[in-house]
Amino acid sequence: MNVRPKIMFSLDYEKGWGIHQFAKINKEKYDFFLKNEPRVLEATLNLFEKYNIRATWAVVGGMLCDSWEEFDSYGVPSPDYDNKKLGLDQNIKNSKHLCEYFFDKESVQKILDIDGQDIGGHSFSHSYFKESGVKFSDFYKDTEALTRVFHNKFKHKIQTYVFPRNQIISPEVLIDFGIKVYRGNSTKWYDRINSNSMDFLNLLSRFYRFYSALSPFAISERISSNFFVPAGIFLRFGLPTTLWESHFFKIKRCISGTKDEQLLHLWWHPHNLCIDYQIKLLRLEKILQFITKKRDKGLLEIVNMNDI
Ligand SMILES: [Zn+2]
Repeated sequence: MNVRPKIMFSLDYEKGWGIHQFAKINKEKYDFFLKNEPRVLEATLNLFEKYNIRATWAVVGGMLCDSWEEFDSYGVPSPDYDNKKLGLDQNIKNSKHLCEYFFDKESVQKILDIDGQDIGGHSFSHSYFKESGVKFSDFYKDTEALTRVFHNKFKHKIQTYVFPRNQIISPEVLIDFGIKVYRGNSTKWYDRINSNSMDFLNLLSRFYRFYSALSPFAISERISSNFFVPAGIFLRFGLPTTLWESHFFKIKRCISGTKDEQLLHLWWHPHNLCIDYQIKLLRLEKILQFITKKRDKGLLEIVNMNDI
């Protein structure tokens, strides 16, 4: 059995599904955050091909639909959140000019066409399952629709899963739908508190997450089971140069410190690279060069979530 250190990549691909609660129907906001995403997606896939990178792309299932009518036909209404701002605004569905930011199955086909890429699920509707007001049935129906839409569109069977905001609930349900492995938050206290609320504890946990992203002494979790892999390091491509250097140093230190039989999971969203994408793609390439140099010397393996 191969016990070399493993570096795992996953990307949450969600387009407007991850930002609608603050962008609402403001097209300028979607343009600002997402208009370069097709370019970033293509460049990332080119880099993955160039460096022979295996990665999981956790895709929001609703993106595979062609219209809101089709999305609604899957029978997954927005959960009845206590915090009403989290739900999908009906006005978004009425805004035809926003459709391009919610539906895009062609781009998912492009990912499927590249070797070593695993398409996983990131829920059907990008709901936040740990928020108050959300019911178990919301999660169950959402997961059922997720597996169905991938079967309908691509005859693809989802086997990997990433919880929106890494908010884990009832992972055993995933097994019922044939999902073999999922990513959620690490067991560190500040990663377990990850809600959309702005209370003191949540703000404090955000501070600790930021501190741990920069500090070489905050060690990222590297234990996993065959079913659960913790989110190791969220790659913060948007940091100013000096902070990026600290973050990059920390990433390299964690990679070098990953031992045999351990796994370090690096993750981000394609939209994290959209603003000033040339600089951020260079940062991504530097990370890939560092890792692939070690891989080519036989010091580690690069895996996607479906490989373990
Ligand atoms: Zn997400």
